[in-house]
Amino acid sequence: MTAHSTWFISDLHLDAKRPEIVHAFIQLLGSAKGQASALYILGDLFEYWIGDDIVDSPAGQLVTPILASLKQLSDQGTQLYFTHGNRDFLIGERFSEMTGCTLLPEQQVIDLYGVPTLLMHGDTLCTDDVEYQELRKMFYDKTRRAQFLALDFESRIAEANRIREISQSKMQDKSDEIMDVNPQAVAQTMRQAAVTQLIHGHTHRPAIHEFELDGQAAKRIVLGDWYHQMSCLKVTEGQFDLS
Ligand code: MN
Repeated sequence: MTAHSTWFISDLHLDAKRPEIVHAFIQLLGSAKGQASALYILGDLFEYWIGDDIVDSPAGQLVTPILASLKQLSDQGTQLYFTHGNRDFLIGERFSEMTGCTLLPEQQVIDLYGVPTLLMHGDTLCTDDVEYQELRKMFYDKTRRAQFLALDFESRIAEANRIREISQSKMQDKSDEIMDVNPQAVAQTMRQAAVTQLIHGHTHRPAIHEFELDGQAAKRIVLGDWYHQMSCLKVTEGQFDLS
């Protein structure tokens, strides 16, 4: 059997607290063998990532089988790609080597069966959430990142949990609209990338949006999360199957 489809997933938020989702992910990787020529993970694969040396920490027990399953799929011939999410933006070269995943920049245009397609996590499109964008700037700051990575495991895990709690409590006060993408930001980003097709995650609102961009038919496909469904987009030539 020839692998003929391209798969996209995001927002699995893998966590030791939900072993059934870890299991489902490993099953998905198994089913991708021989079917998916490429698998793109568009961020937030993990609930949090405190640095690639997480594999040497007690949390490594969760992570190691996941990385091994990715590597196995990569060795079996599926091309693996990873875009950082806001939960796992500290994933680095060691992860890449252990899994066979090619790390992609924040925005990447690929040729998807002849259609230039922009891939990204999607959080930068949520420009109405000004507070989040400010926090993001702070967390992604190189100096702050280095300081964080220099902490011991316990401190980093405590800090990750603290940030998670803050963001969860802030989310409760925000309207659905604020936390969704901003249509102007979408149009501008697609224009800059010179594409009429965009695939992203982050908002946990799976949908295929068809609209007009500067007089051309455009498509924005939003991947779903793995809290409510085990969302996966499977693309073959001219066909999008979003579950
Ligand atoms: Mn996200």
